[in-house]
Amino acid sequence: MEMPRFSEAEITRAIVDSAMRQWLELAEVDVAIAGAGPAGLTAAIYLAERGFKTVVFERRLSFGGGIGGGGMLFPRVVVQSPADEVLDKIGCRKEESSKGLYVVNPAEFISKLASAAVDAGATILLGATVIDVVFRKNPLRICGVVLQWSAVELAGLHVDPIAVCSKAVLDCTGHDAEVVAVAARKLPELGLKVVGEGAMFAWEGERYVVENAGRVCPGLYVAGMSVSSVHGTPRMGPIFGGMLLSAKRVAEAVAQDLSQAR
Ligand SMILES: Cc1cc2nc3c(=O)[nH]c(=O)nc-3n(C[C@H](O)[C@H](O)[C@H](O)COP(=O)(O)OP(=O)(O)OC[C@H]3O[C@@H](n4cnc5c(N)ncnc54)[C@H](O)[C@@H]3O)c2cc1C
Repeated sequence: MEMPRFSEAEITRAIVDSAMRQWLELAEVDVAIAGAGPAGLTAAIYLAERGFKTVVFERRLSFGGGIGGGGMLFPRVVVQSPADEVLDKIGCRKEESSKGLYVVNPAEFISKLASAAVDAGATILLGATVIDVVFRKNPLRICGVVLQWSAVELAGLHVDPIAVCSKAVLDCTGHDAEVVAVAARKLPELGLKVVGEGAMFAWEGERYVVENAGRVCPGLYVAGMSVSSVHGTPRMGPIFGGMLLSAKRVAEAVAQDLSQAR
């Protein structure tokens, strides 16, 4: 097998050149999503396919959030109807265990969600942590995210972050609702609060996550487990339909707000 000859410098140039062009594109986007768990990836699919320039920032070097751990490390998670429409959309296989309750393999679920998001046109950036928000006054609104490389955060290095401007910011960071938490702390006039999830009541928890998904203040939206933490609704365990449907609902809300603003 004949392989082309290339120098180390070519490899370096290829990486740096392509990454810099990507970052120039990312400086200003329609939608910035924090967290590439089920909620973040699903929201990315529905927004990118509507033509919004969408980027997902994920702290870890992998995506899928809490899906990978399955149910207490048993490699299965559950998705209930009608959220299985998302499974069908991304081509993820499902096995019906009781009426309207489907069992899914986490590895397939994660990879197909991420693949669908990328195919829809979203960008997923791994190893980047959203540490703060950008805001404007009169009227008060969130209009971007402040980012730091997760490696810099972990090392505790004193490095100034950079910002990405966006028309909408989605907090899909899961249990800690980190974006809402930082906005609540630094902009008390927004009246935001993260109260934390309640005790387990799976069915009701799922319902609340979908019903309460949406805008928490101008420019900032919540989907997935962040909704539960912001509203103090019950936890639900390894069932994921609410995460998917809340993300779909948020994508619809964002699309409507951005279309009106056009
Ligand atoms: C430790 C653990 C505990 C769980 N406990 C519960 C529970 O109590 N109740 C329950 O119903 N389900 C629980 N689950 C199940 C499941 O994780 C969630 O219900 C589901 O994964 C939430 O989906 P999500 O997309 O909202 O958030 P997640 O799946 O948590 O995904 C959030 C993603 O955001 C990333 N992220 C977080 N902060 C930032 C940031 N600042 N910048 C960039 N990326 C960020 C994370 O790395 C993660 O990949 C738990 C899972 C885990 C792993």
